[in-house]
Amino acid sequence: MASAELIDGKAVAADLRSATAARVGGLYARHGIRPGLAVVLVGEDPASQVYVRNKHRQTEAAGMRSLEHKLPADTSEAALLDLVAQLNADPEVDGILVQLPLPRQIDAQKVIEAIDPAKDVDGFHPVNAGRLATGQPALVPCTPLGCLMLLDRTLGQNMAGRHAVVIGRSNIVGKPMGQLLLGRDCTVTIAHSRTKDLPEMVRTADIVVAAVGRPEMVRGFWIKPGATVIDVGINRLPPATEGGKDRLVGDVAFDEAKAVAAHITPVPGGVGPMTIACLLSNTLQAACARRGIDMTQ
Ligand code: NDP
Repeated sequence: MASAELIDGKAVAADLRSATAARVGGLYARHGIRPGLAVVLVGEDPASQVYVRNKHRQTEAAGMRSLEHKLPADTSEAALLDLVAQLNADPEVDGILVQLPLPRQIDAQKVIEAIDPAKDVDGFHPVNAGRLATGQPALVPCTPLGCLMLLDRTLGQNMAGRHAVVIGRSNIVGKPMGQLLLGRDCTVTIAHSRTKDLPEMVRTADIVVAAVGRPEMVRGFWIKPGATVIDVGINRLPPATEGGKDRLVGDVAFDEAKAVAAHITPVPGGVGPMTIACLLSNTLQAACARRGIDMTQ
């Protein structure tokens, strides 16, 4: 049986991190600037702690400053908004990331909207979402940006006119992914929980991006032969055998889809590693844009 080529997100992310580190080195050598990323973690969600630790390590490895702010779980919304205002005003801070989810007493949307759009390296502020939607330069959410980079590497100039089906319409992944694919001249369908005949629709897709949060929902028989499949899902399942380790699976039934698709991202090792690599590149972009420096030089 034919088998899809794996899209190696680990390798592409490593390339992006080293290109970013080289540009950070150039920025310091020419302008004496070391970009600073402030990461705010409220509470003790174990998954968030792991993400924040990885972000810290990779930010420093890229030659940037990592400024961590850890606040207790009972932090008030007002106190968090105060911290965001301080970071907005701090010239040493180029990027601000408030780790989601936030505890219940805090309105995440309010916090996102309080971040200076020029420092919004997560790309969640409505100004950046609007700039992306209107085709202007923007800070773009890291996960869909990473997916686009994987598609660019895999399909090159070959995306115009292709039908892309994005499953999921969140502000973090699905909607910006749709905008990015439109920017590559794809014909885009965004599906969600109320979409009718999803398998039929997916079968018409040349490019499938699954961002649902349901383990292995997208089955092999949904996939058009020769399609490119990007699996954003990260779902933790209990061990297959007693005493074994938790398993990470995507939103796509990988073994089935691999037998039909031309290209597919694995989970783990596909989209996941791209997210932090794009965060570093967004921080560099923000540091340069705020100072009117061309980051490609
Ligand atoms: P959300 O829960 O915010 O959105 C899920 C989307 O899937 C919603 O639009 C929902 O539709 C849709 N959906 C749910 N059930 C179905 C269904 N049965 N059929 C069709 N659509 C459905 O999730 P996120 O966008 O934040 O994340 C999606 C996945 O990506 C998760 O597994 C998450 O862990 C992963 N992720 C991975 C990242 C990475 O770094 N690789 C980063 C971010 C997320 P509706 O709007 O109608 O409810």
